[in-house]
Amino acid sequence: MGAADISEKMHLAGGRLTVDLTALADNWSSLDRRTGQAVTAAVVKGNGYGTGLEQATQALANAGCSTFFVALPDEGIRVRAIAPKTTIYVLNGLFEEAATDYADADLRPVLSSVPEVEEWSAFRRSGGTTKAALHIDTGMNRLGMDVTDAATLSEENAFDNLGLTLVMSHLACADLPDHAHNRQQLDRFHQARAMLPDLPASIANSAGVLIGADYHLDLVRPGIALFGGDAVQGEPNPMRPVVTLEARVLQVRAASHTETVGYGAAESLDRASLLAIAAVGYADGYPRHASSSDEASGGRAWINGFSAPIVGRVSMDLIALDVTDIPGIKRGDWVELFGLNVPVDEVAERADTIGYELLTRIGQRHHRTYVGE
Ligand SMILES: *Cc1c(COP(=O)(O)O)cnc(C)c1O
Repeated sequence: MGAADISEKMHLAGGRLTVDLTALADNWSSLDRRTGQAVTAAVVKGNGYGTGLEQATQALANAGCSTFFVALPDEGIRVRAIAPKTTIYVLNGLFEEAATDYADADLRPVLSSVPEVEEWSAFRRSGGTTKAALHIDTGMNRLGMDVTDAATLSEENAFDNLGLTLVMSHLACADLPDHAHNRQQLDRFHQARAMLPDLPASIANSAGVLIGADYHLDLVRPGIALFGGDAVQGEPNPMRPVVTLEARVLQVRAASHTETVGYGAAESLDRASLLAIAAVGYADGYPRHASSSDEASGGRAWINGFSAPIVGRVSMDLIALDVTDIPGIKRGDWVELFGLNVPVDEVAERADTIGYELLTRIGQRHHRTYVGE
């Protein structure tokens, strides 16, 4: 992300994003306290869940985090530049002909297929000393080695030369604590890891950390919870919000009860209304699916202690908010679209998606401020 994309001057920006690095560090520490003996790592893929990979890594490292997970080797190289002494795992594994690039930045690929194991083994036989992890699939069918393939490799002693420091698996349904899949995956993982009895083991993402100590094992890999997202459905979110998105009010206008608002005339007013027009839209990562219409209500903003519903469609650069009942709104005010008062997960739900998607798709033209630390 080039700094040039980001509005440098707040008075020229339509949206402003505030990332609370103290809340991020606190969230890591509170998960670390929950997990006792287990190592608490941090997943910072997707540009640190939208918060800024470098800033997030620095704050987490300062809080005491010494193991990071990224999706891509390029992300790993960026983390390495910030956190020279930490352990970095690349979840998407080993890319073809890239072993020396991983080694140069001391990135540990999370191997999850037979070809990856073969390629990494050849690299190690030719003198490579970089470590790696092994991912075993226990019912997600995304990445992760098939248990039978792992058993075959194990019998051939093919794991011995890989420099393995971690065996892991990934939960498919941990956001639903009562889902039968969770226990089944944990049981399968315990069976599979018997092939590699001396290796530290890890199965928990954020939700896995929160649903119970059985899932903590030797290392936990939270992502979304660090960034304030709600990892487990149906329970209060114990994490502090990290990201706040606000929009500038451009004007406040009056409209009569006979009028409609925005593209498609999708929403009709049923009373004489005051509308605040605010300068954030879907080009800024605010979801168009959070639009409001005569059929369904959409997102809301928070203004001076009041909730202001969106009226009509979210457009590229603008939204309209009903401020009829809210006193004193004026041009130049800032309204919260998500953050301390409107949870990001609530907006996500209104838009039929999840907080992860909202955070990782935050636009590039906001003015960004990092607070705390
Ligand atoms: C993204 C990811 C995580 C972190 O998941 P959260 O739900 O954000 O905590 C952990 N492990 C793997 C394999 C992942 O892909």
